Amino acid sequence: MKAAVLEAHGEPLAIQEVDAPSTEPEGAVVEIEACGICRSDWHGWQGDWAWLGIQPQPGQILGHEPAGRVVEVGAEVETVREGDHVAIPFNIGDGTCPECRRGHGNTCESVLPLGFVEPVQGAFAEYTHVPAADHNLVQLPDGVSSTEMAGLGCRFMTSFHALAHQADVDAGDWVAVHGCGGIGLSAVHIADALGANVIAVDLTDEKLDLATDLGAAATVNASEVDNVSGEVAAIAGGGADVSVDALGIAETCRNSVESLGTRGQHLQIGLTTDDEAGEVSLPTDRMVMKEIEFIGSLGMPPTRYDEIFRMVQTGKLRPAEIVSETVALEDVSAKLEAMTDFGTTGIPVIEEF
Ligand SMILES: [Zn+2]
Ligand SMILES: [Zn+2]
Repeated sequence: MKAAVLEAHGEPLAIQEVDAPSTEPEGAVVEIEACGICRSDWHGWQGDWAWLGIQPQPGQILGHEPAGRVVEVGAEVETVREGDHVAIPFNIGDGTCPECRRGHGNTCESVLPLGFVEPVQGAFAEYTHVPAADHNLVQLPDGVSSTEMAGLGCRFMTSFHALAHQADVDAGDWVAVHGCGGIGLSAVHIADALGANVIAVDLTDEKLDLATDLGAAATVNASEVDNVSGEVAAIAGGGADVSVDALGIAETCRNSVESLGTRGQHLQIGLTTDDEAGEVSLPTDRMVMKEIEFIGSLGMPPTRYDEIFRMVQTGKLRPAEIVSETVALEDVSAKLEAMTDFGTTGIPVIEEF
């Protein structure tokens, strides 16, 4: 099969013929119909996240936002069938540990990030193998295409779980979103759909315009103001109720915490970069004095994808609006390259393999 293979961090991916995956007893092979290209792929491509133990090694196939058709199932698979139209979550669980059994597959004790480590080769390829297929594969309902699912990608799932499950977002709350890449734009759109007043923050007007289209009530161009968090707090009448770091760099994390009002909730969605290596210093005393919460959020349990699908089917969430273009497998390296200086807006989706 054809695949885009990582040969060296930061170097173009090699388009190669490699062996197609074979099916394990509890696994399934999926023919990929669409796969999003996202900033997490860029981090993997750069060789970030060594401190998390998920630095992709040479030979790895990246790509963690796929949807497609099941073409083969293992002998012990019970519910998934050949021909099923499925999404593959990016946090692959074992389906058997206490976290998985309690419905928290996203924090599985032996979670494997799709496309980042050797046992779970990703979907920048014609086919991929999914372990514990009954637990992991999510059936796509009629009316949600593979491309739309790829547009949802990790960003919608992650943002939805953060805003709808982890934080307390009420109608009329002020929700600030720092960083309007894929995760940030998804967070804007979802928070708006949940009834919040959204303040979008970014460095470029182009991304802020897209945020406005997706439901932001106000925007702050961080390159044009001295005090970003002060600006956000002023718009929110003293401080946001919920604030999201959708980028994962020290500056946006601090700005997010500092834009909160009393009893505000900070949502950390983005993992940090090589510069932070997982550590960011925060205004701890201020957080204590104002009873500010710091909430981590990782992916989304596969058992709850239905909640998003219902909102997509009724048009409340429109993931296709975040898809900026459809491309071929051969274009992946150029798209990753363009992310180096934040030169992409919206999400490119591979449709041609
Ligand atoms: Zn588990
Ligand atoms: Zn992603």
